[in-house]
Amino acid sequence: MLEVKNIETYYDLIYAIRGASLAVEAGTVTAILGNNGAGKSTILKTIMGLIEDQPDKGTIEFKGRRIDGLDTEKIVRMGISYVPEGRQVFEELTVFENLQMGAYTRKDRENIRTDLDEIFNYFPVLKERRNQWAGTLSGGEQQMLAIGRALMSRPELLCLDEPSLGLSPILVKEIFQIIKTINRKGVSILLVEQNARMALSISDYGLILENGRFVMKGKAAELMRDKDVKEFYMGVRSESSAKGYQRWKRKKRWR
Ligand code: ATP
Repeated sequence: MLEVKNIETYYDLIYAIRGASLAVEAGTVTAILGNNGAGKSTILKTIMGLIEDQPDKGTIEFKGRRIDGLDTEKIVRMGISYVPEGRQVFEELTVFENLQMGAYTRKDRENIRTDLDEIFNYFPVLKERRNQWAGTLSGGEQQMLAIGRALMSRPELLCLDEPSLGLSPILVKEIFQIIKTINRKGVSILLVEQNARMALSISDYGLILENGRFVMKGKAAELMRDKDVKEFYMGVRSESSAKGYQRWKRKKRWR
């Protein structure tokens, strides 16, 4: 469904992505994991056409058509939607108005009502608060609203940037369960996360990004069992971390 091939993206002459390839199969959840500054957000922004004149190299195809170089609005119309890191809801608009904004690319006005009902089904709290200003919602509710808003464009692929950021463990679990439900209803998901354990638990595939390059790719279940992934991305210490990190670095060069 989505094929990213060997992309390079830079900001101010510094490359944040240095030759990264990934594929998202239709119907799956794919997680990109990595530490702060690895380039996870930059990959999503590059896919969405949000960084001017980028990618500098490589190609991005969605359902067999090139999308690199297209305007974000066109990309959204083609069926990809995006929830940015930190939610970025329109705080001075109501919940309902935020959801309406998500449908701005659509012409099939008659189906919008049905989609709103479906979103209120996923997130009943949004229905309760439909006339409340978005800025007055809690962090978790704002994350739900941001996901709901992205669903209003009827995407086939939903890109999510760190949905767990700043949320309590209980809310993170709830949000991830809803993401999985959305996937089961037919929406493919590309998820960027620092919370590796939670992301892999709902994913089919996972990729690990370090310094703008993927250093590991595989089935989520296999990555969850991998000793290095457990140690360096899930905080399960199996030996002294300094020694372990050197081993990880050496091993990584060969992947
Ligand atoms: P985080 O989890 O902290 O968001 P990330 O893995 O998403 O990290 P990116 O935000 O993609 O990483 O950043 C990758 C690199 O690009 C970092 O070195 C960052 O400092 C740099 N970078 C990101 N945005 C910009 C920008 N607008 N201008 C210049 N450099 C940037």
